[in-house]
Amino acid sequence: MKYIVCQTPGSFLLKEKSPPSRKKGEALLKIVKVGICGTDLHAFSGNQAFFTYPRILGHELSAEILEIDENDKGIIAGDKVVIMPYVSCGKCIACRSGKPNCCQELKVLGIHTDGGMQEQFCVSVDLLIKATDLSHDEIAIVEPLAIGMHALGRAQIQPGENLVVMGCGPIGLGILKLAQLSGANVIALDISKDRLRYAKEVFGIKHTVLADSGAREKIAELTTNNMATAVFDATGNKKALESGIDYMAHGGRYILVGLSKESLSFHHPAIHAKETTLLCSRNATMEDFRQVIQVLRSGQFPTAAFVTHNIDFTSMINVFESWLDPKAGVIKAMVNF
Ligand SMILES: [Zn+2]
Ligand SMILES: [Zn+2]
Repeated sequence: MKYIVCQTPGSFLLKEKSPPSRKKGEALLKIVKVGICGTDLHAFSGNQAFFTYPRILGHELSAEILEIDENDKGIIAGDKVVIMPYVSCGKCIACRSGKPNCCQELKVLGIHTDGGMQEQFCVSVDLLIKATDLSHDEIAIVEPLAIGMHALGRAQIQPGENLVVMGCGPIGLGILKLAQLSGANVIALDISKDRLRYAKEVFGIKHTVLADSGAREKIAELTTNNMATAVFDATGNKKALESGIDYMAHGGRYILVGLSKESLSFHHPAIHAKETTLLCSRNATMEDFRQVIQVLRSGQFPTAAFVTHNIDFTSMINVFESWLDPKAGVIKAMVNF
């Protein structure tokens, strides 16, 4: 069978090996689609921290079951499945507290261990969710949307709240749409006019604000001077991360979803006066995945607008680099196996 490996930064190879053999408790899967995310782009560029090569990427996966033992999830050969790519230890204090998403020993398929950029792949049945009624594009976007669902859960968003989401990449757009569908008033913020136009025209986000020196005033106008009761950062950019408190209401929550590699600094009186609740949101849980699947089943999520690029795996190596250019307008690229 064929697979694609990121051999060293900047180099993918299309190679051949024998199909994997299934261990006890595992299912053998045929990979159908692999979504590409920021992590994959960073891994390819060589600026992903703690990343080792060679590595088979791919953690946003849609698959069909080729072989599986009888199981209590009722999953059988031929079913379409979502794969939860986070492998937690089940023993550490986070796992014991119902937070396997921030397990001390967390291993993510396609990042810490080999992922799904291969024609066949073996995965523990524990990580599978049956989703035969969803399309393969929908199945492959469950993981990135679950990141947003987890962030909304961390903030315990209520209908009617004013939210600001900084960053209109795939994670930010996911948070915006999921929050809007749950009844929140959402405001999108980005430094790119093109991204804001996409959020408004294609994603139906009514309020978009350019992240410049006038942003605070515009958000004040849109919230009758109250500012946003929850602000989400989906940029991972130090400058953006340090500006989020300006858009937050007194008594509000600030939720960090994007990851920066730097130290952040806040003016203490500014965060103290607002009695800021600072929340980090890491990965997602099985429950977040299930909630996203429910939203996709309802047909309310604009999957076709989210998946901007689709390409056959044999051609991926030649075009991957072009996806790094913001001009390519990639929200979510899919590699078809
Ligand atoms: Zn991802
Ligand atoms: Zn653990």
